[in-house]
Amino acid sequence: MPSSAGRLLLLLPTTTYRTEAFVEAATRLGVELVCASERPSTFEPLAPDALITLDFTDPAACAETVARFARRRPLDAVVPADDLTTVVAAAIAQRLGLRANSVPAVSTARDKHAMRRCLAGAGVPVPRFRLVSLGDDPALRAAETTYPCVLKPLALSASRGVIRANDAREFVAAFRRISAILDMKDVSLPGEARHALLVEEFIPGVEVALEGLLVAGTLHVLAIFDKPDPLAGPFFEETIYVTPSRLPEDTQACIAAVTREACSALGLAEGPVHAELRVNERGPFILEVAARSIGGLCSRTLTFGTGLSLEELILCHALGRPLESLERERRAAGVMMIPIPRAGRLAAVHGTDEAAAVEGIEEVAITMHPGQDVVPLPEGWQYLGFIFARAETPDAVEQALRSAHARLRFAIE
Ligand code: ADP
Repeated sequence: MPSSAGRLLLLLPTTTYRTEAFVEAATRLGVELVCASERPSTFEPLAPDALITLDFTDPAACAETVARFARRRPLDAVVPADDLTTVVAAAIAQRLGLRANSVPAVSTARDKHAMRRCLAGAGVPVPRFRLVSLGDDPALRAAETTYPCVLKPLALSASRGVIRANDAREFVAAFRRISAILDMKDVSLPGEARHALLVEEFIPGVEVALEGLLVAGTLHVLAIFDKPDPLAGPFFEETIYVTPSRLPEDTQACIAAVTREACSALGLAEGPVHAELRVNERGPFILEVAARSIGGLCSRTLTFGTGLSLEELILCHALGRPLESLERERRAAGVMMIPIPRAGRLAAVHGTDEAAAVEGIEEVAITMHPGQDVVPLPEGWQYLGFIFARAETPDAVEQALRSAHARLRFAIE
């Protein structure tokens, strides 16, 4: 029988940053956790009721394995820790009759081309786009393109492989560079995503991220983050996120409205949503709507009601528990994803104590370790670490993040 507080399956790809936050949330809520990962843990034989190995590339097989497990240990909810496992979670939920998004909805959201087609078809503002086969002659495709444009893989994340091209020569170079990224050994993409890329109109303007929670088809906006560093390309490294947004109220309302339209066009109805939009004089454009929560360690910027974390909200919702509050704390908060200045081997990080001592800074978390190879965009996908700040105003948060970052020095050999 499930324990009274509920038993929850958490899908944790080995590359996720999100394990600790979800495990902590489950502990605070008194939920019994079952963790699934794609590599067998050495502890699995010791804890067969708490650990499962799943091949996340095969959602149907995952659903079968979990259904067998659930006959012995019934499950009350399934939660994907990030993007890679949203389709698997939907397949498991469907098999077990648990609250979740449908498989078609999350599959469309996972594939940038399918998402563009769906949203454009529903009249949701998205960049003009075209699918280009990697078997095509890039010079021919370049000649048909309007500039500036953005070339991107269909199913990677963290801006990996996303490249702006201002002319035909840059188009051909970007096309070849993305082909090489798709051949890298840590990249395993399904079907079409291995053989094609997306070419889009470059949308100028400011960029925001919207963090939301869908409850029975209604999108609750949890936070809108400004991204104050210009993202002009050629690569699009995320750096600072600050909430609340400093955009006018009516612009924020438009951002929420367009995100709502996008969720309903995709058929997303339950659980976390992370959307990226660009806003200019033509209004907001959806760049992406993902059926997951914010990536990296960035959720540490969010606290709700009487101190609930984003992960606690997500787990409560998945378990069908009442949600105490979806109201973010009053103070401004922000994070800097520390960019990788150049490729090499990380030898040392200096200045973390000085950075942490800057007023408003709550934490400097260096997540890469000395000796590790660091790879900048567009080939890489990780950050050196994260800096967190809280203050009375968004401006003060941004200022604190910048001055803490200025105190860090990375020795990269
Ligand atoms: P990922 O899912 O890997 O993060 P996105 O498609 O969201 O990839 O693109 C990453 C970033 O690249 C965006 O946050 C944005 O800054 C930039 N970008 C992507 N597409 C466009 C576009 N059509 N116009 C302008 N900027 C874009």
